[in-house]
Amino acid sequence: MVRRVAIVGAGVSGLAAIKCCREEGLEPTCFERSEDIGGLWRYTEHAEEGRASIYRTVFTNSCKEMMCYPDFPFPDDHPNYMHNTKLQEYIRKFAEQFDLLRHIRFKTLVTKIKKRPDFSVTGQWDVVTEKEGKKKETEVFDAVMICSGHHVYPNFPAASFPGIQKFKGCYFHSRDYKEPEKFRGKKVLVIGLGNSGCDIAVELSTVASQVYLSSRSGSWVMSRVGEHGYPWDMKIVTRFQTWLGTILPRALSDWLYVRRMNWPFKHENFGLMPVDGTLRKEPVFNDDLPSRIACGVVVMKPNVKEFRETSVLFQDGTVQEDVDVVIFATGYSFSYPFMEDDSIIKSRDNNITLYKSILPPQLEKPTLAVIGLVQSLGAIIPTSDLQCRWAVKVFQGRWKGISWANDLISPSRGEGEMCQKEPCLLSPQRYGTSNTLQMDYITYLDELATAIGVKPSLPKLLLTDPRLALEIFFGPCTPYQFRLTGPGKWSGARRAILTQWDRTLG
Ligand code: FAD
Repeated sequence: MVRRVAIVGAGVSGLAAIKCCREEGLEPTCFERSEDIGGLWRYTEHAEEGRASIYRTVFTNSCKEMMCYPDFPFPDDHPNYMHNTKLQEYIRKFAEQFDLLRHIRFKTLVTKIKKRPDFSVTGQWDVVTEKEGKKKETEVFDAVMICSGHHVYPNFPAASFPGIQKFKGCYFHSRDYKEPEKFRGKKVLVIGLGNSGCDIAVELSTVASQVYLSSRSGSWVMSRVGEHGYPWDMKIVTRFQTWLGTILPRALSDWLYVRRMNWPFKHENFGLMPVDGTLRKEPVFNDDLPSRIACGVVVMKPNVKEFRETSVLFQDGTVQEDVDVVIFATGYSFSYPFMEDDSIIKSRDNNITLYKSILPPQLEKPTLAVIGLVQSLGAIIPTSDLQCRWAVKVFQGRWKGISWANDLISPSRGEGEMCQKEPCLLSPQRYGTSNTLQMDYITYLDELATAIGVKPSLPKLLLTDPRLALEIFFGPCTPYQFRLTGPGKWSGARRAILTQWDRTLG
């Protein structure tokens, strides 16, 4: 019987985990290495070891209706897209509302998680923790939920940048970037066309003498402001759009996709065109980048070929002289330093193999869940919430969808087999490669929701509540949909869905 659950991390995923354990009558203990909740969203002046670090001006890319906890909408007066401090306020209110704080041990680092000797029978884990100035402690837990985030360990591929050691200017990873002022009057090169790279380049362009933005393969750049001024995600992340994607012939769907992405401005004219534009790679959200490029304060550059003492040679043969600063916005790699055996999560070739993107399949007992390690065109909070609800059911043996020993891949079988069993795992041919698990947002959430009996039934709703059914199908796939029915149902869900557009107007 699973009773005690250890949760690593009190970011948005860890808080969802505590709440879900409580809902199922389990005893959660959450360990948080820092002094507060919020994880990535808690801004500090300096990066803290082992915790994600953001710059002062980070705003959300997902709007408030799409990224809330499914039974806790944002206050009406919150803007659609929020500054990190506003989101942190919301996270705090959520934790207080559901009385989650008392389950968290702050300033407590999880240093080791290992199977107990009788794991194959009990499924139990030893969790070793260290609190400042105190002796290490080991406790036994029936299950573990890893919610430690994946924007912590910089991906800094020095080997891909020959000559970087010779470079006399200053260089660092975007994790250490906080604000623009100290770059006033400098020539700055930002490497990487992801969300952080674009944000930083745009922000620096207001103070630096020149900003160069180097990209290896381009990217679609979207605005947060979608059709008719509504949030982009409320217009695009709908069941109707997902359904269209499944019925249209591939060529037509690709053509429509490229047309839609190029609609606000032609990416080619701005040096932003993705190498393979039909790949559904996660776009970048930036409302200002095209205009900064148009004004010449951000200059697009191809990949760097070589660094010299004070200059940079690019792949197209151009050289940029007198570069003062280089910021590597080259993303993050994931790591679980506290796992005694991290091959439980990482496979031989360093890829992740997680059943339903949550459970390591080779364990004798399904008592370890990794939450939040998915990437999709959707928000993390509702994703983590459903992942936790599903995982907790599996821990308790209340989900009969799999026979643990037989249905999953074993280490001796291949990952190909895993993919066949994971229809919502996106193919690299269509979505590009990634070191996280790429999922189609709605398909994935529906799969988890079906498994735990909380997916709304559209045919039934069409007969009983047609207005709601139409909003669910044609409207945005807001998190409330997954608390409308079944276990964990929230009585405010119907009203929240029917009033969601009202709350987006100023
Ligand atoms: P985190 O927020 O990283 O929290 C992990 C927690 O675990 C931390 O508090 C850390 O201290 C703790 N921890 C780690 N290791 C240990 C240990 N060994 N012992 C104890 N505690 C430990 N997602 C969206 O949905 N919408 C957005 O708009 C959005 N914008 C983003 C913008 C940026 C710049 C970045 C980098 C990411 C963005 N994301 C966004 C994705 C983001 O990762 C998630 O929103 C979210 O913060 C992930 O939450 P988490 O709880 O899984 O991890």
